[in-house]
Amino acid sequence: MRNKAGWNFDNSYTRLPKAFFSSIDPDPVDSPEIVIFNQTLATSLGLSVDALQSGEGVEVFAGNEVPEGGLPIAQAYAGHQFGHFTMLGDGRAILLGEQITPQGERFDIQLKGPGRTPYSRGGDGRAALGPMLREYIISEAMHALGIPTTRSLAVVTTGEAVIRETELPGAILTRVAASHLRVGTFQYAANWGKDEELKELADYTIKRHYPNIADKDNKYLLFLQEVISRQANLISKWQLVGFIHGVMNTDNMTISGETIDYGPCAFMDTYDPATVFSSIDRQGRYAYSNQPYIGGWNLARLAETLLPLLHEEKEQAIEVAQDALKGYSELYQSYWMAGMRSKLGLFNEETEDGALIEGLLTMMQKNHADFTNTFRSLTEDKVEETVLFDTPEFTKWYELWQGRLGRQEETKEQARELMRSSNPAIIPRNHRVEEALEAAVQGDYSVMERLLKVLSNPYASLPEQVDYCKLPEKTDRPYRTFCGT
Ligand code: AMP
Ligand code: MG
Ligand code: MG
Repeated sequence: MRNKAGWNFDNSYTRLPKAFFSSIDPDPVDSPEIVIFNQTLATSLGLSVDALQSGEGVEVFAGNEVPEGGLPIAQAYAGHQFGHFTMLGDGRAILLGEQITPQGERFDIQLKGPGRTPYSRGGDGRAALGPMLREYIISEAMHALGIPTTRSLAVVTTGEAVIRETELPGAILTRVAASHLRVGTFQYAANWGKDEELKELADYTIKRHYPNIADKDNKYLLFLQEVISRQANLISKWQLVGFIHGVMNTDNMTISGETIDYGPCAFMDTYDPATVFSSIDRQGRYAYSNQPYIGGWNLARLAETLLPLLHEEKEQAIEVAQDALKGYSELYQSYWMAGMRSKLGLFNEETEDGALIEGLLTMMQKNHADFTNTFRSLTEDKVEETVLFDTPEFTKWYELWQGRLGRQEETKEQARELMRSSNPAIIPRNHRVEEALEAAVQGDYSVMERLLKVLSNPYASLPEQVDYCKLPEKTDRPYRTFCGT
C-alpha cells in the first residue's frame, strides 16, 4: 500500500464496543476526478500536497483505496429529527480513520457519499456534486469567520450519476472533524446499549475532547457542563453572523462543539428573526431566532442520556442534570452579549448595553436592513449607506451609541479595530453560492474558486471584495434550501 501522502492513522473509535459501528469498505467508483482540494488544510494535517495531487489523493478521496492504517467504519447513532426519535447512523458516510497531525492533534477523516452502509435504510449512500460543493464552500467560510466547524479537504466527482428527482452528477466530500461524536451517539448508547457501554462512550469522549476533566470525581457532570458551554458559545457565534443551520436535529449536534451537517443551512441577508430557509422546516422549528432555544432542547436530550452516570438515584440525577441545563441560557446570553458588544466596539459593560443592542436590532428588523452590511457600515462609519440612515430613530440611536463609545477608555480607532474583527464584510451570500454551484456543475470551477478566495478573508476590506458585499436583486421568491441530496 502506498503512503507517500503522510497518512498517520489511529482508529481509537474502533476500540469502542462493537455496537457503536460497522466495518464497511467504501464502494469503488468508475472515474473519479478531484474538483476541489484544500491544500492549506492538507498541509496542516501533515499530508503531502504533491503526493495527494499526483494520484494518491483521488483514489483515497473517491473511496477506491483505503489509506495505510485506515479501518473504514460507519458509525451508529440515533437522533431526534424535528422532535421525533429514531435510529440513524452513517447512511452515506464512512470514517477512514483518525489522522494524527505532526502537532499530535487527532482529526476524523470521513468520506461523505461513498456508498451504502448497514445504516443506509432505503438510501443509496451517495451524494450529488452541488450539495457537496455547497458544504465545502460554507464550511470553509465558517472556518474563516472563526466559527468552530468541521472542514472540507476535497471534493471528487465519481463519474457516476445519482438519481434524485433528476439525474445529478455524483460526488464525494472528504470531511475533517475533531470527531463525529454527536448527541445522537449518546442517545443511541442510552437507548440500545447497556449502562457499561454508555460509560465507555462517555469515558472515551471525555478523554478525546475534555482530557483535563478525565481524573475528576464528578467528571460526567463536568462533561455535561463543558458540552453545554461549547454549544452555547457555538450557537452565539451563529447568531452573531446570521447563520441559520436549518436542521438542528440531535444527530447533527456535535459533542466537540463544532458546526456539522451543512445541508439546508444558509446565511440571512435581511434581518428578520423568523427567517427559515429549509424547504422542509414548515413550522420554523429551526428558524434563526429559535436556534438558541433548540440548542437547549438538544442539550436536555444529551443530559437525559447521562442520567445513569450522574447519580445512582434517578431523582437526584435529574436534579443534577436540571441544574446544569439551567446554566445554558445564562451562558448563551453572556456569550451573545459579549459578541454583540464587540460588534458595536464596546470593550466594557454598562447596564444599558442590552437596550442599545435591542434598539438597533428592532430598527434593523423594521427597516429590512441587511444584517451583515449594517454592522459593517457602522464599523466603517459609513452609516449613510444603511437603510436606517435618515430616520429620526436612527439619529437618536446613533447619538446614544457615540456617547457610549466616548465613555470608555479605548479610543474610537481601537473601537473600530474591534468592530472590524467582529463584523465580517464577507459572508457566503446565497446568490453568490448558487452562482458558483451552477457554474461548477457545468464544469466551470473558476466562479467557485474566486468565491472561496474572497470568503477566506472575511474581515478584510479589499477592493476585490466589493462585489461580494452586494445584495441579490429583489425577487418575490424567497430563497429555499434542501437537505438529503
Ligand atoms: P441528515 O439529514 O443529513 O442529518 O441525514 C439524516 C440521516 O439520513 C443520516 O443517518 C444519513 O446518513 C441518512 N442519509 C442521508 N442521505 C442518505 C443517502 N443518500 N443514503 C443513505 N442514507 C442517507
Ligand atoms: Mg446529519
Ligand atoms: Mg446532511
